[in-house]
Amino acid sequence: MFYGIQRTTFVDFPGKIAATLFTGGCNFRCPWCHNHDLVYPERVARLSPLDEEDIKAFLIKRKSQLEGICITGGEPTLWGERLLSFLSWLKQTGYETKVDTNGSNPEWVEVALKEDVVDFFAMDIKHPWESYHEAIGIHYDIERLKKTVSLIKESGKPHQFRTTLIPGLSKERMLAIAKEMDIEITFQTYRDPFLLAGGESLLLAEGSPA
Ligand code: SF4
Repeated sequence: MFYGIQRTTFVDFPGKIAATLFTGGCNFRCPWCHNHDLVYPERVARLSPLDEEDIKAFLIKRKSQLEGICITGGEPTLWGERLLSFLSWLKQTGYETKVDTNGSNPEWVEVALKEDVVDFFAMDIKHPWESYHEAIGIHYDIERLKKTVSLIKESGKPHQFRTTLIPGLSKERMLAIAKEMDIEITFQTYRDPFLLAGGESLLLAEGSPA
């Protein structure tokens, strides 16, 4: 399930010293994606998943230094039950949890809320609804994305809706969408993921995280 780990990050989980875990696989094909190695099945197949028991051992060892764990991808929610169970373990271990999602799986978000295993959601809102396919490389049911927005907004959990300002994207149009959905959008500039990481270097499926 996990193909990379950022052992320490000060930026991925707002207000927390965290580690970030990267899941493999994604159902979108965003042309501006930073993580193609974690999206395309043929590229993911070239990587070896990190051993989850090694990750757990590492996180137990780092418990006094880390406050939260951010799960990103790829699209983490594609891992369904397996991710829910890992999040539940994180909570039992005393970690705060954050999940980054593209919003395509409202059913998973609903269960995660019911099981109370996610403390912070971050969802990308990538483009105006009418031209969303241009930003994600496929046609997708926008109502499902809107449903996830509503679930997160109404959950009472800390959250962030964010838009990366890819070339040609109108900030004004995105602000109009934020108004229409009654949410706030955080804008991000398009940057290299290694610069965004701001902590120790990213380990991508190279072996034990310890
Ligand atoms: S949703 Fe995220 S991980 Fe998936 S293709 Fe788009 S940018 Fe990449």
